[in-house]
Amino acid sequence: MPSYDLVCQACVHKFEVFCSISQKDHQKCPECGSDKIKQRLTTVNVVGKSSGGDRGSGVSKAAPPRFG
Ligand SMILES: [Zn+2]
Repeated sequence: MPSYDLVCQACVHKFEVFCSISQKDHQKCPECGSDKIKQRLTTVNVVGKSSGGDRGSGVSKAAPPRFG
């Protein structure tokens, strides 16, 4: 069963659920009970390999999280 990183849009509480994909949109916030849950994009920190020669590498610009 996959896990999903979810965030409550009411209280911005982040939590993880294990459920089927059909159920992930029907979760409730364990903190405030709101059903305004949004899937959170998992931020993957890709560490570039320390080898010069790859142009364009080394640019690490993290996009700010967008809620709503
Ligand atoms: Zn909440």
